[in-house]
Amino acid sequence: MRDIKDLREEILISLKNASSNEYEALKIKYLGRKGVITSILRGLKGVPKEERKIIGMEANKLKKEIEEFFKQHKVERAKSSSGKFRDYTLPGRKNLPGAVHPVSRALDEIINIFMRLGFSIEYGPEIESDYYNFEALNIPKHHPSRDMQDTFYIAESDKLLRTHTSPVQIRTMERQKPPIRVIAPGRCYRKDEIDPSHSPVFHQVEGLYVDENVTFADLKGILSAFAGDFFGPDTKTRFTPSFFPFTEPSSEMYVSCVFCGGKGCNVCQYTGWLEVLGCGLVNPKVFEYVGYDTEKYSGFAFGLGVERFAMLKYGIDDMRLLYENNIEFLKGVIK
Ligand SMILES: [Zn+2]
Repeated sequence: MRDIKDLREEILISLKNASSNEYEALKIKYLGRKGVITSILRGLKGVPKEERKIIGMEANKLKKEIEEFFKQHKVERAKSSSGKFRDYTLPGRKNLPGAVHPVSRALDEIINIFMRLGFSIEYGPEIESDYYNFEALNIPKHHPSRDMQDTFYIAESDKLLRTHTSPVQIRTMERQKPPIRVIAPGRCYRKDEIDPSHSPVFHQVEGLYVDENVTFADLKGILSAFAGDFFGPDTKTRFTPSFFPFTEPSSEMYVSCVFCGGKGCNVCQYTGWLEVLGCGLVNPKVFEYVGYDTEKYSGFAFGLGVERFAMLKYGIDDMRLLYENNIEFLKGVIK
């Protein structure tokens, strides 16, 4: 009898102190088939008849008490959540899996290809000085790209938001001597109206290769290998003359149309070719700015727009889609 009284107190205290997520375990511990109360009732066989009756009654009383406790608490829990109506027939909420944005994905791939070709990565500031963005790249004062209408200048300073990643060429050459094989990915800014192929913020990857005896053949070889890796092994390349102040000669690289394979379609305007990047041999005037021996060293440089590469690779016909965060568009592009 004494044991039952002690037990009762012990059980009631443990129930009072238990948190609701422990109830299930306690219920099994006290009332289960191998539980404390069941064991007492089972153990009564060897007890003298008189005592058996009293102990039995006490044990049953305790059992009811414990049962009552659990009943009460179930009720309380139901009460506390009854303020909200729950429609259990509603379909479950799906969590959309995260994915890499098409621009980041194209950029990652471009970086990986050039790293395999032996290039390393350089970064430069997005707020640049006039010197690095224009002057040291042989872009003279009267050049149209310096126009207030193209460049975001920072008021009353010679600072501006870089209009291309080319200033990283200068910063890299100032820091180190040839051989140089670097790419410089990053954000650029121009005062362009937003339309299907323009955005005031966009991404470029700059490339620079400087060593002794670097020729236009090296440029063609490296960039054609890159194009084949990015767009597929059947991709053909073509180089046409162009002009940039910081390269001489300058060229534009075309790839065989990724949509029609060169047969002609409305994306390539029935030419079979798509212009994808600007490139050329580094203008010796640029080497003079960074103190390189123009007799000893030569090099090539290129710059490409990451958005354009992403659009061609993933079949996106409007650049604005890349920035609108439309979930249906992103779900369709990123699989
Ligand atoms: Zn085409």
